[in-house]
Amino acid sequence: MAKLAFLGLGLMGTPMATRLIQAGHDLTVWNRTPDKTAPLADQGASVASTPAGAAGGVDAAITMLATPEALEEVVLGEHGLAAALTPGQLLIDMSTVGPEAVAQVAAGLPDGVGLVDAPVRGSVPEATAGRLAIYVGADQADFERVEPILATLGTPDHVGGPGAGAATKVVVNATLGAAIAAFGEALALGDALGLDRPALLNVLEDTAIGGTVRAKRADVESGSYPPSFKLRLALKDLRLVDELAGRSGRRLPVASASRDWLERAAEAGAGDLDYSVVVDTITAGGGPGSRQA
Ligand code: NAP
Repeated sequence: MAKLAFLGLGLMGTPMATRLIQAGHDLTVWNRTPDKTAPLADQGASVASTPAGAAGGVDAAITMLATPEALEEVVLGEHGLAAALTPGQLLIDMSTVGPEAVAQVAAGLPDGVGLVDAPVRGSVPEATAGRLAIYVGADQADFERVEPILATLGTPDHVGGPGAGAATKVVVNATLGAAIAAFGEALALGDALGLDRPALLNVLEDTAIGGTVRAKRADVESGSYPPSFKLRLALKDLRLVDELAGRSGRRLPVASASRDWLERAAEAGAGDLDYSVVVDTITAGGGPGSRQA
């Protein structure tokens, strides 16, 4: 069993840290809002008052934070991890932040401290059950070190060298944005054609966007969107898609259109709801008059 630090106890980080402690790892946790450490402390985790304070003597520190800015603050900021990690220790970043933030943070670590990028696909249920898909960017030696730790959380997939995991996750979330926007547009068209909603949802469950329809149908039918994956985080990912595509000279109109829909939902005040709320925004006409405004 490893000695680990876990930083970022949000919707995903809490069940992930819980699995690690239940697997028998020696865990120290830190979270910006300290109250969220209590359930882990109850299960035997030590609690640090700063990121640096969590890093002493660990084999690896794991971060699961909202945004690139949060990662930079927790690693490179005052009392950040970089001030405390020493040669031979590893940072495993599991947040969705894109390859540029990963490279920037890696450059700020002391010599001899490795960074493995290992973002995930799957949401709270998969994090709870240890069934996340984990896209690992690392050299072979680092992959072999982190694989047994990550196996507690899901299935580690060694997709390439450093940064490849972060890049893969951005690509994956381009498909997530397209699928949810396609779902909303399909329902909007079905409504306009006077089709019966439940019958159409049954049909859509068996189409190319079937996985998304099956996962989000209950939210759409109830009109209630409790966050599993917050809209503002999905939007952060589609902004990353746009930025990275733009910088590499690629025009990706489907990704841009999905982002536009999510921007409209966020402008209507839905940023802290589940990203599937965009289906509601689209079927309601998409403007400030949408049902979630
Ligand atoms: P979340 O519930 O919003 O939690 C975000 C975490 O980041 C919290 O611990 C929060 O601390 C911390 N944080 C935010 N800004 C910070 C800052 N400036 N400094 C320090 N800590 C900061 O998000 P989540 O759903 O767990 O997602 C975490 C990451 O996984 C994101 O990159 C997301 O895109 C990705 N992801 C999410 C899902 C999903 O379904 N939810 C699936 C795959 C990947 P506080 O508690 O103090 O706010």
